[in-house]
Amino acid sequence: MDFRFTDEQLLWGETVQNFMDREVGREYTREHDASREFPIEVFKKMGALGWLGLLIDEENGGSAADPVMFALFCEAIGKFSLDTAACIMTSMFTATNISRHGTAEQKERYLKPFLTGDAKFSISISEPHSGSDAAAARSTAVLEGDTWVLNGNKVWCSGAHLPKTTIAVMARTSADRYKGFSLFLVPNTTPGLHIKKMNTIVRKSLGTTEFFMDNLRIPSGALLGEVGKGWDYIGEHLEFERLSIAASQVGNARTALDDTIRYTKDRKQFGVPLASFQVLKHRMADDETELAAARLLVYSAACKMARGERAIKEVSMAKLFCSQVLFKIAFNGMQALGGYAQLPEYDMERYFREAKHGMVGGGTNEIQRSIIAKEMGIR
Ligand SMILES: Cc1cc2nc3c(=O)[nH]c(=O)nc-3n(C[C@H](O)[C@H](O)[C@H](O)COP(=O)(O)OP(=O)(O)OC[C@H]3O[C@@H](n4cnc5c(N)ncnc54)[C@H](O)[C@@H]3O)c2cc1C
Repeated sequence: MDFRFTDEQLLWGETVQNFMDREVGREYTREHDASREFPIEVFKKMGALGWLGLLIDEENGGSAADPVMFALFCEAIGKFSLDTAACIMTSMFTATNISRHGTAEQKERYLKPFLTGDAKFSISISEPHSGSDAAAARSTAVLEGDTWVLNGNKVWCSGAHLPKTTIAVMARTSADRYKGFSLFLVPNTTPGLHIKKMNTIVRKSLGTTEFFMDNLRIPSGALLGEVGKGWDYIGEHLEFERLSIAASQVGNARTALDDTIRYTKDRKQFGVPLASFQVLKHRMADDETELAAARLLVYSAACKMARGERAIKEVSMAKLFCSQVLFKIAFNGMQALGGYAQLPEYDMERYFREAKHGMVGGGTNEIQRSIIAKEMGIR
């Protein structure tokens, strides 16, 4: 067994890390967190570099990166904030659905501008009464002639309010628990769509929303793929989505721990650096050890996916463990920085807030445990 990355993988990881240092950085991230603005310049630059098409096949204008290359990308873009990573990654998954199941017209209208950074996607599954139990969603879509009429209340739809955004809306076309869902591409400017931004303490740059569909009428061509396949289409990118979250958590945890190490080496109390106190030193050694284990889980899951093998258990284990490691590292960082941790300019409070959300978004840690147990044959 060889745990080394190839030269190509190392170079790719370094390239994205350097991009993040040069084009994003701490100041920019902090300002966008405070102002709740989407990092549009970064999104566009990534589009110009062809990075938004990492998960898209070459035939449709992407570069079809393998899961290891994708994980290296996500690790780097999570460097300063999980929110920044989400701003980039959220659109990528709907784009894969369109590249696989979209019509020529949908690809021309939605995929092309997305690949250059000129359009974005949101994904709308959750509803007020259906979170973890996503299949309990009730929003409906009824075909009237050549028009679909959508009704219902969606919640937590990240990025739905942003300019040039199309929402992939999961709605019921029949009562069947899973086969009753279809996926619709709904531009956020469609009349009858009432989008309300939510005042969250995380995902401030991407933003998240609640929206109401009140006899919202869209043409029959807005259906993505086939009727009754919505649940399957969303399931297609779940492995990539969970892998991406876990990888970005590893990237963010690396920065949080490095910040803690730097601060405790610089700051003196009782005439010596904080880092020389054994309690802090040992805590950081434990954090370093757990971070190394988290990273290995991510890349072993990515390698399994790259071999074309089923990796449901492995990505859930990675997401579960990485979220806990990031949370612990950010929590320990908050303690190590003392009072200064409370100031946004030290960044630790942002890592801490976002780490907590990492235990919920993309399927909660309890749900990840249930998936792992099911894969273990425990029901
Ligand atoms: C900032 C933010 C952004 C989001 N972005 C999106 C988005 O873009 N699109 C989208 O569709 N959704 C999005 N979500 C929704 C997210 O996926 C849900 O919040 C998540 O799936 C949990 O659902 P819930 O909040 O309704 O919690 P609930 O499902 O009500 O769960 C509450 C608690 O009960 C536990 N629980 C529930 N069921 C079980 C069980 N069977 N066994 C054990 N424990 C259980 C949960 O683990 C959790 O701890 C976002 C959420 C947030 C907060």
